[in-house]
Amino acid sequence: MTYELVKYSQTGAVAVIEQNRPDKRNAQNQLMLTEIEAALDRAATDDSVRVIIIGGIGGHFSAGHDLREGEEKRANLSVEERWAYEERHFYGLCLRIWDCPKPTIARVQGACVSGAFMMANMCDLVVASDDAYFADPVVHSLGAASVEILVHPWVMGLRRAKEMLFTGERMTAAEAHGIGLVNRIAPVGELEDAALALAMRIAEAPPFGIRLTKRSLNHGHDLSGFRSALEAHFTAHELSHFSREYLSTVTRGLGAAVDQGKRLLAG
Ligand code: ZN
Repeated sequence: MTYELVKYSQTGAVAVIEQNRPDKRNAQNQLMLTEIEAALDRAATDDSVRVIIIGGIGGHFSAGHDLREGEEKRANLSVEERWAYEERHFYGLCLRIWDCPKPTIARVQGACVSGAFMMANMCDLVVASDDAYFADPVVHSLGAASVEILVHPWVMGLRRAKEMLFTGERMTAAEAHGIGLVNRIAPVGELEDAALALAMRIAEAPPFGIRLTKRSLNHGHDLSGFRSALEAHFTAHELSHFSREYLSTVTRGLGAAVDQGKRLLAG
């Protein structure tokens, strides 16, 4: 199987899926998201794989969804068309990661923003380099109701999630580690080894035991309202794509939104 914007490799029982568009800060376009989905299915169904790492090649995990492709191809979608696109490539892909029967680890360096931040948060564990930063500035930059998956309060606490979403400001790796959003931190040059070492350790465990443990942990989370809250937010998010605030952003051009997002991230 060949990929254009994803690199798939395996070390022992660990599959590594890397976003491979470093000249665009791994901005996630439709092709990349489709390839991540295929690579995830491949790793999930390959009996020689026990643990899956999702990372990015280059200086950044990912700057999030490719807004320029969105502007070119999807600026005038109907409700039905946008719902179908985002349900599969954003919401559906994230839930595939959550429901993956094998442990998943997000390996994060540099930017981990918006759509990429939600994807990393759907992984079971997060290992980050000390230069990593996390943000969801899309309320400010696009006027949309956050991203498609409102995982934020579940991984950082309600009050901190409100601060991040209301301000659009970014969070450092050190803070993310301190509040439990990130499991482990490594110097940027040692990130790949640190993530692989954690994955190898998990891969030593009997896989069915790990699978059932993950299933029970996720089931408990779902029972506490996680999945229902995600479903409710997805509807609100889709509504926000047709709000006056969002549409005026689109009319001004998403280039301005991209620039505003960059300014926020620089702060
Ligand atoms: Zn959306």
